[in-house]
Amino acid sequence: MQLSKYSFGIGDRFARQGEAQLKAFVDAGKKGVKITPVWNKSNREHLTIGSAHPETRKEADEAARNLNWDGPWFVDADHINMSNVDGFIGSSDFFTIDVADYIGKKATDADLESFTRSNSSFTGTFKIPGIEESYSLSREMIYRIGEKFLFAVKEAAKIYRHIESKKGKNNFITEISMDEVSESQSPLELFFILSAVSAENIPVQTIAPKFSGRFNKGVDYEGDLDNFAREFEQDLMVIDEAVKKFNLPGNLKLSVHSGSDKFSIYPVMGELIKKHEKGIHIKTAGTTWLEEMTGLALAGGEALGLAKKIYGEALIRFDELCGPYATVIDIDRAGLPGAGDVADWDGERFANALRHEPDHPEYNPDMRQLVHVGYKIAAEQGKMFTGMLEKYRDIIAPQVTDNIYRRHFQRIFDV
Ligand SMILES: [Zn+2]
Repeated sequence: MQLSKYSFGIGDRFARQGEAQLKAFVDAGKKGVKITPVWNKSNREHLTIGSAHPETRKEADEAARNLNWDGPWFVDADHINMSNVDGFIGSSDFFTIDVADYIGKKATDADLESFTRSNSSFTGTFKIPGIEESYSLSREMIYRIGEKFLFAVKEAAKIYRHIESKKGKNNFITEISMDEVSESQSPLELFFILSAVSAENIPVQTIAPKFSGRFNKGVDYEGDLDNFAREFEQDLMVIDEAVKKFNLPGNLKLSVHSGSDKFSIYPVMGELIKKHEKGIHIKTAGTTWLEEMTGLALAGGEALGLAKKIYGEALIRFDELCGPYATVIDIDRAGLPGAGDVADWDGERFANALRHEPDHPEYNPDMRQLVHVGYKIAAEQGKMFTGMLEKYRDIIAPQVTDNIYRRHFQRIFDV
């Protein structure tokens, strides 16, 4: 099983927007840009929603069938580890093995010695083609990179082999993610991480490092754009070289766990992958749930009432909702409109505050981030909420499609 050059992860918390999401891919295809859809869902999302794993598979397959999608599509077990992978085995064919928790734990001395020895040919002046600067590498520096990452890679190998034993070799896509940590990985570190991945025989097709800057959920990137561009381009060169040196899968590519909506860096990534003729996987999720809220607001009446109710509840339960997402949101509480203010809003006003149009005077990134993490409250509404999604499907679906196509694809893939 091979992942094609361009792929895009579309989370769908409530599994109601599969067709609306896929329509964006169909539209991109009409413009000559082939993008493979990957429906991703993490264990955390399943737990919060109370959803069953096969639901995502059913949604993806139905969407593909109903739209006569003739390309491949995948269902991604997102951010899994040994403790929760088993639930995903039956319905997923893409596994994002998350090793963030193991970074910094030390491998055995023997393993570290062997890692250092096998990479000793890179000591001295080390240069990666396409990267201007050269590194002066000592044995000790390689050992120290091993101290940080080798244990994590070995853990990824255990999880990979567990999945392989259940699903069979070549029957799924493997991604390794290290993005949910506070410290970014340098391109040089990425090179030696890939060396270790190769030594463990993990047929990794996508790798998600932690980049510099902040990737807050549902809002734009915060950080130095030039610095991001340099780091991203160097990572592309590192992957190229690692594929050659370590005999990794030729289609290995970067996966960017974007947290959705990274409008300022999408064109930067788009230009660089074009320049170097590289592939990319971009992961998004919560952005679709925000379009559901926007659509409900626009529907007015009872639907707008429910959207307001969910927001009002989110205000009250701010700490509980934001706690688990503390490292990936930045909400200025003073910027949040009170429930009393919002009560007077019409649907258009509510949608304008929520919708990610950065130049719109009514756009409110604080409110957007709070609603982003507020999907738990919608889940608690159960059928009341999902029923509204179905009842107002015709208003919600175009929001979902337009968001993926115009705000994401146009910026990244220049469709
Ligand atoms: Zn991630």
